[in-house]
Amino acid sequence: MKDSRIAIVGAGIAGLVAAGALQNLGFRPRVYERATELGEVGAGLTLSPNATHALNSIGFATELEELGMRPDQASVRHWQSGELKIAISRGEEMIEKFGAAYNHIHRADLHSMLVNKVLATDPQAIRLGTEFAAVREHDSIVEIEFEDSSSVQADVVIGADGLRSSVRAALFGSDQPRFTGYVAFRGLVPIERLPPDAVKSPSSCLSTGNDRSFARYLIRDGRLLNFVALAERDGWRDEGWSIPASTDEVLEEYAGWHEDVQTIIRSAPADSLFKWALFDREPLREWTRGRVTLMGDAAHPMLPFLGSGAAMAIEDAVVLARCFESSASIDEALSRYVAARYDRTTFVMQKSREAAEAYHSGNDEYSERQHITAEKLGIWAYNAAEVTV
Ligand code: FAD
Repeated sequence: MKDSRIAIVGAGIAGLVAAGALQNLGFRPRVYERATELGEVGAGLTLSPNATHALNSIGFATELEELGMRPDQASVRHWQSGELKIAISRGEEMIEKFGAAYNHIHRADLHSMLVNKVLATDPQAIRLGTEFAAVREHDSIVEIEFEDSSSVQADVVIGADGLRSSVRAALFGSDQPRFTGYVAFRGLVPIERLPPDAVKSPSSCLSTGNDRSFARYLIRDGRLLNFVALAERDGWRDEGWSIPASTDEVLEEYAGWHEDVQTIIRSAPADSLFKWALFDREPLREWTRGRVTLMGDAAHPMLPFLGSGAAMAIEDAVVLARCFESSASIDEALSRYVAARYDRTTFVMQKSREAAEAYHSGNDEYSERQHITAEKLGIWAYNAAEVTV
């Protein structure tokens, strides 16, 4: 098994964690990434304790302590009055409860941390400018063809190519995602641009209102405030993650919201504001065809309301590597991987939909009882390094 040619399509979070975890176990995976340069767009990301566990297990504990922000508390506030509705413990309590920390991190820092490890172990592990186009399997050999008509052969292919996965489309056809009616806006505000009292303690906060929510937290040692604002809006349906938004259009969506929310939006540099439409997909019935399988968003894209998409991608990757380690054949490894991951990720996909309805109910009496969180759903009590595979 250790000599198996493992090809991973996509050097995003899932693909890089899988490569790092496989390398730790003595495999020599190859990652094929369509971008011509390594780097990550995007802003902040939550690494809940289950994601931290998985990353710690493959050797990132020290880096995560340096790169992550670990808030002591989080809160839910009323959209208009700013009144504190729910106070939530984080910090040390997370380590006591789940054995791993709750982190906020810049996506670019997470991505570089993963790239550095994979390339330090094997400088040839990542091939850039290789955009997956097609896959063929014959006599237990899988051949990947790239857009430039070059090709490689492998013993197994893992599609980790994200939300609009070409590997998934090649295996199962293109799906018909449903527009949820929500648009997401994100921004990054250098902390010195904000008046001192604009970010009430705790700095990690979700404001909920009618058909809207606004989440904010600090990253990079508190030097940047990240926000993600989700608003119902019809008539605009572009799914790309990096479409510029204007300050005025975000302010218009949050007109009448508490002054702190509006100050944060106004303070974001115009070039840090982006938007995208949120689409929902039904879970795939299967992930594997022959010796090609899927992981991360390619397998189970989910709405962002439980902040768990990256965590599921990271868990997939660690579990997949363990399945390769403990199986006698590739077919056995793939079937163990899907058996270990399918029900959990489908559950999180479905609960992410339900959370959307609760957050945006607009109920003035919004309370702890109504607040659906990944923690309450038991999602954080999972250790990818120890679950049965
Ligand atoms: P990606 O990270 O999208 O990586 C896919 C990679 O494949 C990319 O490098 C891409 O260039 C490459 N690729 C694509 N097509 C091809 C091709 N044809 N050939 C070769 N390479 C290709 N998750 C959390 O856990 N916590 C959060 O707080 C959180 N917040 C979020 C906030 C927002 C607003 C959004 C939208 C998502 C959030 N998520 C969060 C979800 C998380 O970002 C994703 O689930 C995660 O990035 C999925 O990782 P991935 O590796 O599967 O895909």
